Amino acid sequence: MTLRFHNTLTRTVEDFEPAEPGHVRMYTCGPTVYDRAHIGNFRAFAWEDLLRRYLKWRGYRVTQVMNLTDVDDRTIQAAIDRGISLDEVTAPVTESFFEDWETLGLESVERNPRATEHVPQMIELVRRLEGAGFTYEKDGSVYFAIDRFPGYGGLANIDPEALRIGGRVEGDENYSKENPRDFVLWKGGARDREGEVAVWDSPWGPGRPGWHLECSAMAMEYLGETLDIHTGGVDNIFPHHVNEIAQSEGATGKPFARWWMHAEHLLSEGEKMSKSLGNFYTVESLLERGFRPSAIRYLLLSAHYRTQLNFTLDGLKDADRAVARLYEFRRRVAETPSAEHPGSDAPDLEGLANRWREAFTAALDDDLNASDGLGATFTMVREANLALDEAAAVSTAGLEALRVALDDFDAVFGVLALREREEASGSAGIEEWVEERIAARAAARADRDFARADAIRDELLDRGVALEDGPSGTRWKLVSQAD
Ligand code: AMP
Ligand code: ZN
Repeated sequence: MTLRFHNTLTRTVEDFEPAEPGHVRMYTCGPTVYDRAHIGNFRAFAWEDLLRRYLKWRGYRVTQVMNLTDVDDRTIQAAIDRGISLDEVTAPVTESFFEDWETLGLESVERNPRATEHVPQMIELVRRLEGAGFTYEKDGSVYFAIDRFPGYGGLANIDPEALRIGGRVEGDENYSKENPRDFVLWKGGARDREGEVAVWDSPWGPGRPGWHLECSAMAMEYLGETLDIHTGGVDNIFPHHVNEIAQSEGATGKPFARWWMHAEHLLSEGEKMSKSLGNFYTVESLLERGFRPSAIRYLLLSAHYRTQLNFTLDGLKDADRAVARLYEFRRRVAETPSAEHPGSDAPDLEGLANRWREAFTAALDDDLNASDGLGATFTMVREANLALDEAAAVSTAGLEALRVALDDFDAVFGVLALREREEASGSAGIEEWVEERIAARAAARADRDFARADAIRDELLDRGVALEDGPSGTRWKLVSQAD
């Protein structure tokens, strides 16, 4: 079977092979550490983790670099607004980012370079572009002239001519460009308030790097001039990745990334989850409501990465149940007694495990079709559960095959390991917790301790759980904090 990935460059699914046999070099646009990441951001990161784990499971060595954008318009603005230094803004956000990363069971990547620690490499890249004739300088800022780069915008299917008449581009509108869609490589810093929080010396005077430049410089520093895979969310395609291509290829004359892969958005209330719309949840806020990390991870990975995924709290409850089914099945496999020679009517569990492996590999080989991969896994669980219900005896080798299949599944999806950790730390899932609180409230009411019963109702409501008392007892539902 061949591994195939969608390539945004060609808009087709292509057979994948890294340039160096057996070794994948991959760059991932990391977080802008101005504020705590939300689970929309983590949909992109969780999918990139799935990609990384699947490549490893298929036998590749992976060198993955994910940067930290710790200087850009948003981090600087946060420092100015709060009257603190850039580092005071980014250090705690970076710390909580990696806390959430670890909570969701994302693997550490080989390197996490910080933009502020790579300014010399960025300056060097601008000098190369200057030497190659792609830039112009005005008032201490250096611009990339997109007209001089043939094929500009190809990644996004964008016609550069149409861009000439275009309107604003993120945060660059204060700069005096020849063409409104040119982008700033180096932002002269002494010219405005920004200079107060983030300035580096450069051949063009004091200033700071533009966001796009940061990623090109850090990617090439650690992965060479041509990467195998560059990933990000679809919102990164234009202008960020289009500009990364122009700068990197303008400087080296070589293709920058052989595959560009982009994850679709996580939606909330029908729109892209984002800080600016305010329709977001953080990992922390979901944990406070009693959800398990394994459920969050499962939900984020459950849909194909190139389809939008609508986030709801009910969806998260379903995800928790799905993980519970897998977990219970694994426990059953571990606890079922077996025999070396169980007799000829013992179920063919090895056959089930083999069919799973084939279907799972085919699904993930096909552009990382996670939903089909999960589908194949639940088929195995259902059929194996039926077989175990009916079997008088099962073989040791058959159970071992199921155990290995589940380990393989989890090497890629990583939800059972999280669930294990949750069980070990004794953290209950939301359902157990709510049921326990409802029982405590019923007991308080039976004791006619209504103050206590009301306090429990309020405690639940604080965690987003609303109760409805009816003839058949107390039912509960999740409400969003805004309700
Ligand atoms: P940022 O910190 O804004 O640079 O974003 C970090 C990553 O999260 C980028 O790869 C974005 O494309 C991605 N991202 C942001 N919002 C969403 C969303 N709602 N769904 C999926 N990915 C997102
Ligand atoms: Zn980037």
